[in-house]
Amino acid sequence: MDESWSVLINAPRHQPRDGFNWDEKSSKEYSQHIINLMEAKGLDIRSRVEVLEYRSPADLERNVNAPGGSIYGTSSNGARSAFWRARNRSKIKNLFLVGGSTHPGGGLPLVGISAEIVAEAVEENLEQ
Ligand SMILES: Cc1cc2nc3c(=O)[nH]c(=O)nc-3n(C[C@H](O)[C@H](O)[C@H](O)COP(=O)(O)OP(=O)(O)OC[C@H]3O[C@@H](n4cnc5c(N)ncnc54)[C@H](O)[C@@H]3O)c2cc1C
Repeated sequence: MDESWSVLINAPRHQPRDGFNWDEKSSKEYSQHIINLMEAKGLDIRSRVEVLEYRSPADLERNVNAPGGSIYGTSSNGARSAFWRARNRSKIKNLFLVGGSTHPGGGLPLVGISAEIVAEAVEENLEQ
């Protein structure tokens, strides 16, 4: 029986100038490294792989315009991380910020809350 798997690895952002350069990493080598790790944990998938598609943070940056390929916006690790996220109401009149990189954070439930906050803020703005 065939299956389709998606393996999502937390990784450093693509930052060629002063950080990690994902374009210098061989996609074949890195995907084999992940398969080796999975095998070491008891998941024998190597013999079953027919098609393998690899996407690095650099690919994500190019394909979806996410800076550094950071699909969740700024890092959510650390006690102060919430304070680094963009506010939903900006200092510029009639400019609102919504989505995974803004308050309250990434992931579909939080993005829904972000949309609710911004919808209410826009409504309040219209009433003034
Ligand atoms: C592989 C992966 C797995 C995930 N798994 C989960 C999960 O299991 N559970 C969960 O809760 N969250 C998950 N997430 C996170 C979740 O998908 C994101 O937090 C959420 O989609 C962010 O919503 P958003 O509206 O901010 O951005 P997006 O969903 O990225 O929407 C932005 C939209 O804007 C469009 N766009 C970009 N630029 C322009 C432009 N110039 N003009 C017009 N349109 C434009 C894009 O095409 C896109 O459709 C996952 C994300 C990824 C990448």
